[in-house]
Amino acid sequence: MANRKHVVIVGGGFGGISAAKKLKKTDVDITLIDRNNHHLFQPLLYQVATAALSPGDIATPIRAILGQRRGLRVLLGTVTAINREQGYVELQKGQKISFDYLVLAPGAQYNYFGHDEWSRHAPGLKSIGDALQVRERILMSLEEAEQLQDPKLREPYLTYVVIGGGPTGVEMAGAIAEIAKRNMMRDYSTFSKNETRIFLVEAAPRILNGYPESLAEKARKTLEKMGVRVLLNTPVTDIRKNRVSFSEGTIETPNIIWAAGVAASPLLAALETEQDRTGRVMVKEDLSIPGDPNIFVIGDAAHKKDEDGQPLPALAPVGLQQGDFVGNLIKREVRGEPQRSAFSFTDKGTMATVGRAKAVADIRGFKFSGFFAWVLWSVVHIFFLIGFRNRFRVFVEWMWHYLTFNRGVRLITDRKSEKGEDENEEQTTNLHG
Ligand SMILES: Cc1cc2nc3c(=O)[nH]c(=O)nc-3n(C[C@H](O)[C@H](O)[C@H](O)COP(=O)(O)OP(=O)(O)OC[C@H]3O[C@@H](n4cnc5c(N)ncnc54)[C@H](O)[C@@H]3O)c2cc1C
Repeated sequence: MANRKHVVIVGGGFGGISAAKKLKKTDVDITLIDRNNHHLFQPLLYQVATAALSPGDIATPIRAILGQRRGLRVLLGTVTAINREQGYVELQKGQKISFDYLVLAPGAQYNYFGHDEWSRHAPGLKSIGDALQVRERILMSLEEAEQLQDPKLREPYLTYVVIGGGPTGVEMAGAIAEIAKRNMMRDYSTFSKNETRIFLVEAAPRILNGYPESLAEKARKTLEKMGVRVLLNTPVTDIRKNRVSFSEGTIETPNIIWAAGVAASPLLAALETEQDRTGRVMVKEDLSIPGDPNIFVIGDAAHKKDEDGQPLPALAPVGLQQGDFVGNLIKREVRGEPQRSAFSFTDKGTMATVGRAKAVADIRGFKFSGFFAWVLWSVVHIFFLIGFRNRFRVFVEWMWHYLTFNRGVRLITDRKSEKGEDENEEQTTNLHG
């Protein structure tokens, strides 16, 4: 068909998938491009990193989500350039794909505040690979500690530093406390749970910025009861192999996890349009970019203000609703209804877990904490996971974990340290002095 429009979607995350789903029944050709072949449910990545879930529980092949239909293509590739004037995107391998509409949903990445060299020693959680790397470090550390008779020598291996007191940092610190203070301790005989030290480090005067103060305070107290030391007003000054420094001192450990700032995808610079200080594109009311009504930016990559003039947060529901909105907009336009409306976000609430069976939640001004908030958190996360099989498996894992305190996925699969292939070998040598 000569006039069939071609919609190119970059990114198969929350935003890209919801736009593609909305357009599936519309008379357009769709090409969705992602550098991974799967959609990743990032809110549960920390559970893979802490051995509660397997990668397959939170990742689903994009083709399996979208199914088949004429004119729908899923491409595995990295988009490296965008040509606005001639209307095409370019993949790393040089292939050019032209579009009538372009929906950019490439998300964000961790920002080390100008210290990219820190990323080697303090991985962030953004991909399955990151989560497995963190899991491996935590499990290997326990193995190292098990082999050392001198408590002073094993101290670094039983120390965990999570940098960043947002929801990811809080969830991560809580889950590590569960592992290190309770769950897996009975498997080891050399050391006791009292030897483990978990630090949650935050540069600001409070954790969970963006949540009501009372809930943040509850989360902090819960973490401290679980044995997490919350260091507020403590900006990190340096990170080296096995060592993190602050103005007050240094902590030695191979277990440093970065959950601090994020920056939008570097691909967005190719648009040559205004970006905010974290690289998000300043979008118009209909999520298109100034001067190009057929190019949209959504999700973590977009800077869109709410009614109070504040930028919308980088959260999954924002991406989902924006994908839906743009999908609908294109659908209407293709059908000959050119009137565009403004995007408005419906905030249904925010929540974060703080260890086993505890959470904080703010649902439209109603604040909950403790067990009820955790049940709410669990139901919402199961509901938004893609695929019945994943929902079922995660539900069973959580029930099993709740009843038995057991973390099922404690496999160490990549023993590079033993083979002397990477920094873990050096970590061992260094820390043993
Ligand atoms: C550890 C963690 C925990 C989180 N917890 C929560 C939570 O509890 N609740 C919540 O609401 N939100 C949470 N978030 C935030 C939430 O995951 C994001 O807001 C959401 O994923 C944004 O959706 P998106 O579609 O904009 O981007 P993403 O979901 O990040 O998807 C971007 C996609 O684009 C692809 N991509 C990127 N660049 C390219 C390129 N150049 N070429 C091809 N493909 C590319 C990526 O592979 C990816 O699939 C969390 C995020 C993280 C990292």
